[in-house]
Formats: sequence, structure tokens, C-alpha cells
Amino acid sequence: MAMKYDLRLVEAQVGASGARPGAARRSALERRALVSPGEAGSVAFNRRAFLKAASLPCLAACAGTVIGRHDALPVFAASLAEDDSQFTKEARFYEKQPYRKIKCKLCPRECVIDDRERGYCGVRENRGGTYYTLVHSRVVTAHVDPIEKKPFFHFLPGTVAFSIATAGCNVNCKMCQNWDISQVRPEQVRSSYAPPQKVAELAQQYNCPSVAYTYSEPVIFYEYLADCAEASHRLGVKSVVVTGGYIQQEPLQKLCHQVDAIKVDLKAYSEKFYKEVVNGELKAVLDGLVTIRKHGVWNEIVYLVIPTLNDSEAEFKGLAKWVKSELGPDVPLHFSRFHPEYLLKNLPPTPIETLERAKAIADAEGLHYVYIGNVPGHPAENSYCPNCHKIVVERAGYTVGTVHLRNGKCQYCQQAIPGVWRA
Ligand code: SF4
Repeated sequence: MAMKYDLRLVEAQVGASGARPGAARRSALERRALVSPGEAGSVAFNRRAFLKAASLPCLAACAGTVIGRHDALPVFAASLAEDDSQFTKEARFYEKQPYRKIKCKLCPRECVIDDRERGYCGVRENRGGTYYTLVHSRVVTAHVDPIEKKPFFHFLPGTVAFSIATAGCNVNCKMCQNWDISQVRPEQVRSSYAPPQKVAELAQQYNCPSVAYTYSEPVIFYEYLADCAEASHRLGVKSVVVTGGYIQQEPLQKLCHQVDAIKVDLKAYSEKFYKEVVNGELKAVLDGLVTIRKHGVWNEIVYLVIPTLNDSEAEFKGLAKWVKSELGPDVPLHFSRFHPEYLLKNLPPTPIETLERAKAIADAEGLHYVYIGNVPGHPAENSYCPNCHKIVVERAGYTVGTVHLRNGKCQYCQQAIPGVWRA
């Protein structure tokens, strides 16, 4: 299919560079979506309104919905205590070892940690042979975001997610957009006390049908995530996880019973890239994707295409073949545009043609839902019915237009479109 997109939309939105939650980088469309979560939650506004929303700058500020970053979060209790006991809870996945050492079993890194030391992620500490998370309820940023920003394209389109993060990460991606919260220890960034019940209530208050665990790496705040998911489910609010997927099998299997959707950032399809650019392992992430699929949790994959590092046709083909054979053709695959960040500022943004080539290769391999991300206005942001090829969900950037689905089926030909379509 020939691809055409409106360059004005690219210019209007590209400054957002996808996922960074900083207010200064927020795009016009995103701000618009934040003005009124209720309105953003609608999937029924007409085409004229849709195009207008996609091309006009924001006219209003979004006080009250950008909840904060690094500043004390006004909606949470002022609790920047010196004493960290309120953020400290025993970790769930570790083994005790002789001489008060412990081995962490949360992620494949399996740090072995002496008393009074921390693991690689910097947010877990051995205290006398017992292992603790230091970031339970310790939120460093909270926003109301369009679910399309995560991105989830087949999960409650047009709704907003109450999005939170703590400090820390278990890898060190050279292209990280949120390095200022992911690559720091909890004491190095301002945080607020946000217990799980409060998170669930705030999600309700802001008309968010889901809580998103995002921005940094939710694996490292696993205990907090699990408690938030439980509290949120009690109030009828879903939970979605945005993760690099570098996690051991046992915690992942348990997580699959607690959350409603998991988006995995598959950073590349080569161990070399994972070793040199991520400081992680591809195999563990691929194994995790298979586990998520087996558990039936809604899953989408994002592949950030970085010029010269993970953009070969062989890699795109290998990835698409693997997704089709191991996960099936219905898992949405987003090829996302890279913008120079963090330790990769020397590289240019991804050419649009490269993204289109990646999509063409994945389409040819038989994947049904292949998207292009961070290119607002590109036709490959829309969802197309794989049977009749008509648009079933219309998008421009983070704005959703008309949804042509009835009970999860294409309204034109009745083809079932996989996803979670109703709140
Ligand atoms: S979660 Fe943190 S402490 Fe545990 S193995 Fe991974 S990096 Fe190490």
C-alpha cells in the first residue's frame, strides 16, 4: 500500500519525540488530549473534528492533569521524608545466601549482593540478609496520558491512562528518553508518597480506565506495581505495563495474572545490540514475550529503529518471522522513529523510508497489524482490517478518530480484530 502523510502533522508533533513525559516536550496534540480526559476518551468525534484536532496547536493549558515530575506531586500527600521507611518493603523474588548475602531473582541479571549493598538497578538493598525494594509507593512522575502514547493501539483506544513511575532501571539503554529518572537512585530525584489505593482512586478521579506503569522500568518496582494493580482492579481500573521485558520467568508469570496488557520494547533483534547498547540479553526478552502470549495477556511490541544500529533488512525480516512463528500474526508491531537522545545524540532521526521498509517487510511476512510510530499523520498509524483492508481505527498522533468496530469486529466485513476494545 502506498504511504503518504501530511508533513504539517509531523512538524506539529515531532517535538514530542514519542514518549518523554517532560512538559516542555509535550506536543500540541498531547496537550489537547490532556485538557479533557473525558473528551480524549471519546472515540466518536467526527472527521472534521479529528483533522482539526490533529493539525491545530493546543489552545489551553492542562493544569490539573499534568500531575508533575520531580516537583512534589500536588495530588499526593506531601511526604518528602528523610526517613525512607514508608517506601521500603521486603522484595518478593530473591534467595538468601551464606554470610548475609542475597541473590536477586527478579531479573535475569541475578545480582548477588552483600549486606548493605544494592543491586545494579540501584533501588533494591540488602539489609542484614533480607532484601528490600526502596521504591514502593515512591513516585517520581505522574501524568494523565493518552493510551496511544504508550503506545497501545488495540487497548481501549481513545482513553487516557494514569501513568506513574519510580526511579531506576535494570538496563542502561544508550538511547533512553527518560535517563534522568531511569539512571538514578531514588535519593537522587524528588519523589512523593503514592500508596496503591491512592493511585487507584486518582485514576478514577481523572477518568482513566487504566493505570500505566511506564517511563522508567516497571520491573524494578515490581512489588509496587503488583499492589497498585490489585488496588486498581478492586475499583474496576485496569493495569497496563510498558517494559523492556527483561525479567525472570517466575515473576513474569505472576505478573501476567495481575495486569491487563503488557507492551514490550524490543530494542533490537540481535544479542550484539543488547550487549553493546542495552546491557541486557535478547533471549530473555524473547522468552518473556512467549510467556506473555501463552498467558493470554494483551501484548504489543515496539521496535525503535535506530539508524546504523538495528535497521538492517535482515534484522527486520528475522524479527517479523520470529513474531509470526512464536507469537502469531495478530500481535501489533510498532516500528517507531528514533530521535537523538542521551548517549546516541550523534545519530540522526530515523528516515521515514526506513520505517516504511521495515513495515513492508513485516507486512510481507504476514503480520496483520504493523504500525509506524512517532511520525504523526502517517497512514500507518491507522488500524486496517486484514480482511477487507478498510480503516477500523483512525488515528493522527495521539488522537483517535472514528472507530469502525462493532463488538470487536470490523463493521464492514465482520472480521474479528484482536484487542481490548471496551472499558
Ligand atoms: S532487579 Fe535489580 S537487583 Fe534484581 S537482578 Fe535485576 S538489576 Fe539486579
